[in-house]
Parts: sequence; structure tokens; C-alpha cells
Amino acid sequence: MTPYARAARHARWMLAVLALTILSVAVAEMFVGHSNLVFAAAIIALIFANARMLTHNCPNCGKNLFFRGALVVFWPNRICGRCGHDCDGPERPNPQNR
Ligand SMILES: [Zn+2]
Repeated sequence: MTPYARAARHARWMLAVLALTILSVAVAEMFVGHSNLVFAAAIIALIFANARMLTHNCPNCGKNLFFRGALVVFWPNRICGRCGHDCDGPERPNPQNR
């Protein structure tokens, strides 16, 4: 599996966690009224689920695939923004780009 495919799988996983989180907060609000505790738990769960995001790096230069400069975006880069490595291409990094 390519680094891009792994990162994209993580993005889809985060989408599912986010949907589940919003749903559980909505259900909790329906039954117990507004609860900051439920909301805080949801935020913490999201942060933990997303911690893996930091492990999806370019195999060539180590730049995180979810960063566009200083911005973090939801979907990973297929082509590395720093070294131009094709993260969805053959697994072997190109040493000339290092
Ligand atoms: Zn790179």
C-alpha cells in the first residue's frame, strides 16, 4: 500500500469518526439536553482518533501529507509539496530528491 493510500484511508476513517461523533452529540442533546461534558468527550475522541495523522509522512523527505505549507487540510497530498515525490507511485523513494 502506498503512503498516499494509507493517508487517504486515514482521511476516510476520520470522516466516519466525525460523523459518529456528531451523531452521538446530537443524540445526547436530544435525550439529556445540552451537555458540555458530552461535547468535550467528543472533541477529545476526535483528537485521539486524529493523532495518527502525524504518522502519514512523505517517504522521501518526511513532510506530512496533510500539510499544505502551514495549513492542515482534510485530504492528503498525492504529490509531496516539498520534494515532489509521488506518494501514490512506486514505494521506493528517489534518493536524488533528498
Ligand atoms: Zn517529500
